Amino acid sequence: MTSTSVDYQKILNQINQEFIDQPRSGKVASYIPELAKVPSNKFGMHLYDLDGSNYCFGDSQERFSIQSISKVFTLSLAMKVMGDKLWNRVGVEPSGDPFNSLSQLENDSGIPRNPFINAGALVVADVLVSSFSNAKAALLTFLHEITGNPQIDFDPVVAASEQSKGYRNYAMVNYLKSFGNIENDVEDVLDFYFHQCSIAMSCQELANAFIIFANNGTTIGSEREFLTGRQVKRVNALMQTCGFYDEAGEFSFEVGLPGKSGVGGGIVAVHPDRFAVAVWSPPLNPKGNSALGMASLERLTTLTGFSIF
Ligand code: GLU
Repeated sequence: MTSTSVDYQKILNQINQEFIDQPRSGKVASYIPELAKVPSNKFGMHLYDLDGSNYCFGDSQERFSIQSISKVFTLSLAMKVMGDKLWNRVGVEPSGDPFNSLSQLENDSGIPRNPFINAGALVVADVLVSSFSNAKAALLTFLHEITGNPQIDFDPVVAASEQSKGYRNYAMVNYLKSFGNIENDVEDVLDFYFHQCSIAMSCQELANAFIIFANNGTTIGSEREFLTGRQVKRVNALMQTCGFYDEAGEFSFEVGLPGKSGVGGGIVAVHPDRFAVAVWSPPLNPKGNSALGMASLERLTTLTGFSIF
């Protein structure tokens, strides 16, 4: 099947109809107090095709907290500024452990398994704090440039909410620093990290931002290259193997696309050379991934026949 022979809007409508009235399984994240306030029935999806067409349903234009999805943006920026030296400080292996686990760091001498678990994302945050005089502004500029949308911003209320309860991340960054894998003041690294996680974006904006990972690092329309083909290969490989905490195997098995989830209930996935798609439903399964988001993407790849496998 070619992209053009698939009626994406019809398939998205079908997914919406299949799930909209079903009772939601899973639980909205509550360890960040602000996230617990988000209504559990929110549900939206947006697919951005490489030909520039957009397809959507439901709450696809409402912004939510992207949380760990931000790790894909910070990794991309760190790869640009640090090149292959980044891999001396963070690995590229799936962890098989929960996203906020501290246990592997002891055996691995403070080198996190990959950039998408919290320990790895904190090292990436440290790289950015070292590389820019204002890392938060640099991250927003990167997002504004890849999307052409200057409205994307942090949510300071969510950032403060996570900071007030961020005990594990405080422990983790101090532990990393004890191994010499954090250069900056831990407060500066955490301030950056809590802000990156607080970024608010809609499914539409996320699909737009992720199109560069489906298009060899280049935006569509303006055709600006932000990452090389080699860098995109690596980001997509990491999303495929490490993008869903200790459920990356299950996501590959059921959906078959590189992607990244966040505890705000968002998931973004890409089909290289075809599309980027984002889905949002806040209740999370026991592994911390949006239960309905995963089910919806499984239906998308089944109904279209488009997975990378
Ligand atoms: N800010 C969250 C944390 O560090 C991100 C977790 C996630 O989305 O996986 O706990």
